[in-house]
Amino acid sequence: MVVSERFNTIQTEINQACERAGRDLSDIKVIAVTKYVSVERAKEAVDSGVTELGENRLEGLLEKYEAIGQAANWHFIGTLQSRKVKDVIDYVDMIHSLDRKSLAKEINKRANRPVQCFVQVNTSGEESKHGLKPEAVIPFIESLESYPNVQVIGLMTMAPFVEDEDYIRQCFKKLRELKDQVKSLNFSYAPCDNLSMGMSNDFHIAIEEGATHLRIGSKLVGNEK
Ligand SMILES: *Cc1c(COP(=O)(O)O)cnc(C)c1O
Repeated sequence: MVVSERFNTIQTEINQACERAGRDLSDIKVIAVTKYVSVERAKEAVDSGVTELGENRLEGLLEKYEAIGQAANWHFIGTLQSRKVKDVIDYVDMIHSLDRKSLAKEINKRANRPVQCFVQVNTSGEESKHGLKPEAVIPFIESLESYPNVQVIGLMTMAPFVEDEDYIRQCFKKLRELKDQVKSLNFSYAPCDNLSMGMSNDFHIAIEEGATHLRIGSKLVGNEK
């Protein structure tokens, strides 16, 4: 199916979730996760009105950036090795996977501007998931004060791959509560207004729990090259 049809369907579903939750559609950004698909397919997404693209690998991002450039905003959503920061920093608008001090230090050093970052949180406690434990988030953010090029605009999480919607919802809720706590600290470098959560299978729940940035791959652009 062409991306424009998929995008329409998703927008309708987002609209419905916003109505259920009493939220404003304009507060929600859809990031098309193009990690599975070709440059052509990513271009098709942009031509269909998608303005945000997300990649989880440096190589994928650079390849697509070369073809698409500033026609989209670029989101780095995967584990980022510190040594690769210098290669990607000039091309990304937001980094969704800040999870350690060494990475913050490297971003601060290599960026020539404040970079908008989400702190990644492991809300499910699954071993396989990246991100900080919830209780480590505030001390971590407090430790970023000396890095003017790291701006914490929100928190990010990946829900567990389970059928149990209540459990997924609890993870999103936990992230939202944590976000509100960080926000109440009023750190100038950590406004923390945003929640990056919700993927193809759970974005409806994420919207109901306050998501501002949805990361949608397979349902929006597909998952085959
Ligand atoms: C792949 C990926 C997504 C998108 O997953 P889908 O289930 O295909 O929508 C979202 N976030 C992250 C961090 C990813 O790696």
